Amino acid sequence: MPMHSTSPRPGWGAILFVSVLLAAALVLGLAHSGTPALPEGPRPAAAFSVERALVDLRQIARAPHATGTPANDAVRAFLVARLQALGLETHVQDGIGVMQRHSVAGKLHNIVARLPGRVPGPALLLAAHYDSAPTSFGAADDGASVAALLETVRALRTGPVLERDVVILITDGEEAGLLGARLFTAQHPLARQAGLVLNFEYRGNAGPLLMFETAAGNGPLVQRWLQTAPAPMGNSLMYEVYRRMPNGTDFSIFRDAGLHGLNFAAIGGSTDYHTALDRVDRLATGTWQRQGDTMLALARAFSQGPLVAAGPDRVYFDAPVIGAVSCPGAWAVPLALAAALLCVLAVVTGCRRAGLRAAAIFWSMPAFVVQVIVVAGACQALWWCVRWVHPQYKLMLQGDPYNASWYLAALALLGAALFLLLSTWLRRWLDAVELALGALACWTLAALATAVLLPGASFLFVWPGVFLSAAWLLAFLLPLNAQRSALLQAAALFPASLLVIPIVALVATALTLNLVAAPAVLGAMLLGLAGPALTLLARLPLVAAAAGVAGLAGGALTAGFDTDRPQPYSLYLALDANAGRSYWLSNDAALAPWVRSRMPGAVQREAPGVFGSTGPRLWVAPAAPQAIDAPVVTIVSDQVVGANRHVDLVLRSPRRAPKITLAVDGAPVLAASVDGQVLLAERQDRWRGALHGFGAAPIRLMLQLQPGQAFTLRVADVSYDLCAAPGMACPPTMLAQPFGASGTIQAVRSTVFQP
Ligand SMILES: [Zn+2]
Repeated sequence: MPMHSTSPRPGWGAILFVSVLLAAALVLGLAHSGTPALPEGPRPAAAFSVERALVDLRQIARAPHATGTPANDAVRAFLVARLQALGLETHVQDGIGVMQRHSVAGKLHNIVARLPGRVPGPALLLAAHYDSAPTSFGAADDGASVAALLETVRALRTGPVLERDVVILITDGEEAGLLGARLFTAQHPLARQAGLVLNFEYRGNAGPLLMFETAAGNGPLVQRWLQTAPAPMGNSLMYEVYRRMPNGTDFSIFRDAGLHGLNFAAIGGSTDYHTALDRVDRLATGTWQRQGDTMLALARAFSQGPLVAAGPDRVYFDAPVIGAVSCPGAWAVPLALAAALLCVLAVVTGCRRAGLRAAAIFWSMPAFVVQVIVVAGACQALWWCVRWVHPQYKLMLQGDPYNASWYLAALALLGAALFLLLSTWLRRWLDAVELALGALACWTLAALATAVLLPGASFLFVWPGVFLSAAWLLAFLLPLNAQRSALLQAAALFPASLLVIPIVALVATALTLNLVAAPAVLGAMLLGLAGPALTLLARLPLVAAAAGVAGLAGGALTAGFDTDRPQPYSLYLALDANAGRSYWLSNDAALAPWVRSRMPGAVQREAPGVFGSTGPRLWVAPAAPQAIDAPVVTIVSDQVVGANRHVDLVLRSPRRAPKITLAVDGAPVLAASVDGQVLLAERQDRWRGALHGFGAAPIRLMLQLQPGQAFTLRVADVSYDLCAAPGMACPPTMLAQPFGASGTIQAVRSTVFQP
């Protein structure tokens, strides 16, 4: 038997050392991924101040202000006046922005302002969007960024004239499909003058400010950001993930247009995202101050001297105590090879000097993989059970319920307990040291794989591998007894945990409890490295399990809804203009009492045909006749030209609805255009489109179809003002669900075209 398997009872000193070290790593790691503290006291005129920015934000976030709404016009007028008062050349870029991939177009009004510099040349572009999601006040998303832009301009103007032009771009129609950014990059002359863009976003309203996206060739830019930004946070793992994802924010459009830059966002507080909870009083001011400090510092740095050139990508990350670190991307493979060499040396030395069994270490690897999968799967399954017990959590479409932190803590503790329990069971066949070295070998393989396939992510596996391999090698060479060796592992585990724990927390926030298996994989992998150090804490599995159960109880006790945690609902009013009938509709699985009171006689059934296929069964109830002006569809011409049928139409929303949706069923649409702009360039069998911000103006819609087929065109105009309708009185304990039809009034007209 290997000598490490029989260890004496650990002394209190050893237990204390390991406990304090691991607790410190946990506290530091979690604090690092939390909301930054707001510095006390007033800020000088040259600095960024959330107190000053708050005056503007209160105006911006007075009411929901989605593209095409009167409130959006009011916000724009306010911002233009503010930028002019700050002394900037300001104008509004009017035009149509189009996303052909989903046939979405918008009549938009981007705000563009220029702070002229001393030297002609490429400009620094600072960007955020002023439109909100339909029922959201848009205080964080993205009002806070817009107000921060104003405060940054004010602070910049307290100093000497800048060397470089700074262009402030406040886009419209971001929530409708990044339409304003598309319009700007496609048509605005300043888009060609821009040399670098800094874009600011929120997916939530709290947490650390993350630099989560940049473009290829980011090396020099990343170095400059790390040198300039106060407490920079972000890592190249996020960069690797985001560059593989479809368009997410305005930044993707700038990047695709060939612009270089950095994209910042805070992602904590996702329960408020895109809902009426995105209010000024709920915005984390510490996050906002950090955003402003970063924006101002980078604006000052990048508006002086030569613009940063492109250069090879860098690998970068940040950790508490350690700070922000970066190295050339080309080092990823050599570093991973060095980690692998160290790991092999540790294993070989362990086998030679400590009597470890090579075969046992080998078998520890699949055992570790299975252990990680079981723990991650159990965490995910447990969350599904919680959702089954508390079906109201399914109403939170963002993923996390309001009391998510109870469950995150509970799942982390129960997952850890299960992992340790499985380790105890595996120790029937495999020694604790062999198990730990198997886990270390898996980390090292992950380091090699990521270095080749996903270099930006390699730091996450390389450095913990290096720390632990070095500690094991030292322990075998000296040699140390089992307990001292475990203490050395704990010491090596400390920096590894500082690196990994904030990323586990970040992944959990980003993916929410609905994908809790992902952070659980990483957390379980970390526990694998900790093996022998944790065996010193004999009662840990029991304590963790008990605390985890208490966490579940805490979740159950805080599962209810109230004014601070309003219950999301789906409810909308829809008019069938053809039949002159109105309906209440809801996608909810079960109706909340208030929703039920709005729709007496509701039954679950297919939606009336005029609303098209709305997927699964809805709650449907007849509504009292509504005085809603339905959209007007006028056929200008319908003829066969060449091989195709050309249908030329004029649409109009007499009630100035901010959004119009279009659907064609029965025949494929080959091409479509709106007011002369191409909306669809490729054939689509069940064509769907959307138009934003056209007001009451006539809209020219041209469709091309195959001749000889009958089809139906469904035009719905959508307003976001259900709760403002007479007699609605939406209670403060209820909240319109984001991302869908809830809170809207729709009027649908369907037109049948004969072959
Ligand atoms: Zn946004």
